[in-house]
Amino acid sequence: MSEHEPRTTGQQFGRRSWAEPWKIKMVEPLAVTTREQREAALEGAGYNTFLLRSEDVYIDLLTDSGTSAMSDRQWAGMMLGDEAYAGSRNFYALERAVFEHYGYQHLIPTHQGRGAEHLLSRVAIRPGQWVPGNMYFTTTRLHQELAGATFEDVIIDEAHDPADLHPFKGNVDLAKLRALFERVGPENVAYVSLAGTVNMAGGQPVSMANARDVHALAQEHGVKVYLDATRMVENALFIQEREDGYADRSIAEILLEFCSHTDGGWISAKKDSLVNIGGWLAVNDQELFEELRNQVVIFEGLHTYGGLAGRDMEAMAIGTRESVQDEHVRARVGQVRYLGELLSSWDIPMVQPIGGHAIFLDARRFYEHLPQDRFPAQTLAAELYLDSGIRSMERGIVSAGRDAAGEHKRPKLELTRLTIPRRVYTQAHMDVTAEAVKAVWDAREQARGLTMTYEPKYLRFFQARFEPL
Ligand SMILES: *Cc1c(COP(=O)(O)O)cnc(C)c1O
Repeated sequence: MSEHEPRTTGQQFGRRSWAEPWKIKMVEPLAVTTREQREAALEGAGYNTFLLRSEDVYIDLLTDSGTSAMSDRQWAGMMLGDEAYAGSRNFYALERAVFEHYGYQHLIPTHQGRGAEHLLSRVAIRPGQWVPGNMYFTTTRLHQELAGATFEDVIIDEAHDPADLHPFKGNVDLAKLRALFERVGPENVAYVSLAGTVNMAGGQPVSMANARDVHALAQEHGVKVYLDATRMVENALFIQEREDGYADRSIAEILLEFCSHTDGGWISAKKDSLVNIGGWLAVNDQELFEELRNQVVIFEGLHTYGGLAGRDMEAMAIGTRESVQDEHVRARVGQVRYLGELLSSWDIPMVQPIGGHAIFLDARRFYEHLPQDRFPAQTLAAELYLDSGIRSMERGIVSAGRDAAGEHKRPKLELTRLTIPRRVYTQAHMDVTAEAVKAVWDAREQARGLTMTYEPKYLRFFQARFEPL
């Protein structure tokens, strides 16, 4: 064991030691590069980690979306693909898995999460209505706005403070929700858009009590609650650990109970459900389902495949069942926490509490000498790649873009995200990552920042180019 000793995930869960609850059957070799090779690759990529080729990356922590490793059972399921145009056997397997674990009656498969968001927004929103949500997610809000809605953030204030230790920073502020009902009238609220482990707040969970209260308040006003269940499995673990009365309940039980406080939901299966592509939308209301079924054939595909191959639906059905196993979820969130606790023990600044899927380094406090115009979070992502070939992502001033007057938007949060794919890397990879961040931290005073040399008009963080100062 290395110097990081007493911080193993095993001890954290009150056991003697810990190892990943899987063994490796097939390997994908990683590129081990020299510093010179990384310097050339990073320069070629304009110091933007989105523009690196994945073959030049050693440990890829850009995203946890579609990057999971499938199990041998999922791969076996791929061979059971029933590629019938209509009524594929795999659709019914998926329908059963979703019903058993999320409790929703009627399922519509979609090619990925945003396909589901598109359909729900088209059908459930009348132009001019409001959609309250516990902080926004990029594609979710965009589809709601394209359908003519105004998004209203009703998350608790604590979510906006990276240092606040509230155990359920994803919670809805009931007073804000009630105030919206009173201000615009409940008939002008399309639905409440509730999300589990809120990504933009740092992977922060919603409590069971809050979901119950939100549903009761919405029902009182005749408004439905739809759940972005993309990372709900991870949310369920936080409930098990932190909420009274749930310590002895399984992840599967908690998930099912949570969903019972909503009227339907959707998912990007590229996250919790352990597949590389896929999503679904599921509701309890028969009439709404029929409307959605009318729309899916226009935009995705027939209602029994929704833009997916039969084999993908089979892998998703199996992945859904694997994703709710307690041992799996503990290993997944535990790995994120292991990395976070190691970094915290060296006083490296990050969003707290540690979330479910990623570590968000606080680049503002990391590079206290760099003004935001020198892109501290982008600089940190570049330095991390240079040091060790680890790829992370900027979530700060570059991602925020410009305002109507053409000025940089200056978000309070200037973060560099290390996102952990599921079942892909071992604890040893987490040690290597932690030590790379530490090396960059120790050399922080030498960092000079970056200047932007090319700026695309839309979503600039994807393609912007930089040079070192
Ligand atoms: C990824 C994601 C989506 C969008 O799903 P895609 O599969 O990328 O289209 C929606 N909501 C949340 C919370 C997500 O993380």
